[in-house]
Amino acid sequence: MFWADRIAKEIQETKAAKEATAEKPLIIRDEKTLSGRVHIGSMRGVAIHGLESELLASYGIPNTYFYELNDFDDFDTVPGYLDQEKFKEHLGKPLHKVPSPEAGFDNYAEYFGAEFIAVHQKAGFTPVYYRTHKDLYAAGKMDECIRLALTKAADVRRIYKEVSGSVKAEGWLPVTVICESCGKIRTTSTSDFDGETVAYACNQNPDDTRSCGHTGRIAPWKGNAKLHWKVDWAAKWVAMQVKVEGGGKDHSTKGGSRDVANHIAREIFNYEPPFDIPYEFFLVGGKKMSSSKGRGSSAHDMSELFPPALFRFLLVSKEYGQQIDVDPEGDSVPRLYDAYDDCAEKVRQGIADDFTRMFELSQLPENQADAGAPWQMRFSQVAFIVQMPHLVLATEAAAVKGAPLTEEELTLLEERARYAKFWLGAYAPERYKYELQNTLPEGFEFTDAQKKAISLLRAFVEAGTHTGDEFHARLHELKSEVPIEPKELFTAIYRLFLNRDSGPKAGWFLSVLPQDFLLARLSEVQ
Ligand SMILES: [Zn+2]
Repeated sequence: MFWADRIAKEIQETKAAKEATAEKPLIIRDEKTLSGRVHIGSMRGVAIHGLESELLASYGIPNTYFYELNDFDDFDTVPGYLDQEKFKEHLGKPLHKVPSPEAGFDNYAEYFGAEFIAVHQKAGFTPVYYRTHKDLYAAGKMDECIRLALTKAADVRRIYKEVSGSVKAEGWLPVTVICESCGKIRTTSTSDFDGETVAYACNQNPDDTRSCGHTGRIAPWKGNAKLHWKVDWAAKWVAMQVKVEGGGKDHSTKGGSRDVANHIAREIFNYEPPFDIPYEFFLVGGKKMSSSKGRGSSAHDMSELFPPALFRFLLVSKEYGQQIDVDPEGDSVPRLYDAYDDCAEKVRQGIADDFTRMFELSQLPENQADAGAPWQMRFSQVAFIVQMPHLVLATEAAAVKGAPLTEEELTLLEERARYAKFWLGAYAPERYKYELQNTLPEGFEFTDAQKKAISLLRAFVEAGTHTGDEFHARLHELKSEVPIEPKELFTAIYRLFLNRDSGPKAGWFLSVLPQDFLLARLSEVQ
């Protein structure tokens, strides 16, 4: 069974799912703090929760998928791609109080949120969005939990110590408040909850953030205060009545933040924690890097590399416990297209297994009902053809397919060509970039065996035009006929035409070169 169905069936068996009704649907939740350009890693949560929501709905379980755009965490670092001087003064403020880097957005969080939401939409995920400040804290929805956490602060401190080993000072409270003088939230420390207000001092100076020294008392309700994040996490489950919420596996270790939040939910808020899906990382080029570094590591950059179905395939095809790793500057882009095409091939052959289900669920929801699996030319072939000015893509694709392309196949081909050109221009390694050579490569000496092979190949070309398969078969014969080692043979061909040691599949490659050009080049080797 496909992993997402297996999880959905487990959720279906929970008490919460069985009790869900149209009026009180099962609540699924995920969130992201909008502290800058969002890393592709955060799309894993978007996709896993989104897919489970879709599957549960298809099983008849009424559910709502909420996505929290966290605009209430503090602005703790100015990302490298922003003007340091301009944004430094805002360090320590809640994100919704930091100005947008560009005009047209209410604040910093909305600006980065809009870019991230567009990526969700491309992959076909459409959660119900809400904002941490406006919809939770300022709306008073967290007040009940804030009161409980403050009243039972000693128990919160005990749980931190027992579960994670983190020791909080006597009198420490699980809230920070917004300084009434400077508007920062990262700089305050709180003490002495009297039932309605807490005392605070603006006296913390983490990293480059500066406090103003103000002291006072404030009622921690309606957005004046924010819970410390592990308590905040548990409180959100209560406020939103969350029943399903996964998290990155880095949070899910024993004694980790999820463990602490689970204890707080049960012991402080008397709430059963949601069904967990501890998922693996999404790496970029083997690294779990921040989105401020590394080209291609943001959700937006990664989404530009793939059409919607391919992008969704990237996000949902791997089981949640397996790492995803994509290097836009390596082979993983062509490899992902190949994996998708292999899946499509299995669908066309009528093989009903996980791959068929994977392919179906990789289509945008509105296309799943009649998801065929049209034939597509391999990405590496498309990427080669678009670099050859003498070739017409649709003609070559029909030759590879062995039949004319349908209208749908032609549309997909044009789409793939656009993505291939983008990848070649923005990320592709040199070995995918080809230029046909009009002269013999300088300094390259052909061996006697290579010369003999080329001479026999020339005779074959002189006899008429050939398909890729016919060229492939002839090259195979040449290995024993000359005789010549395969590597030596292929090096000669790629050197002669492309001045490099490797290239596209040799038989197919020779079949797409113009006859005159082939003969001219082959004749030059004597
Ligand atoms: Zn202050």
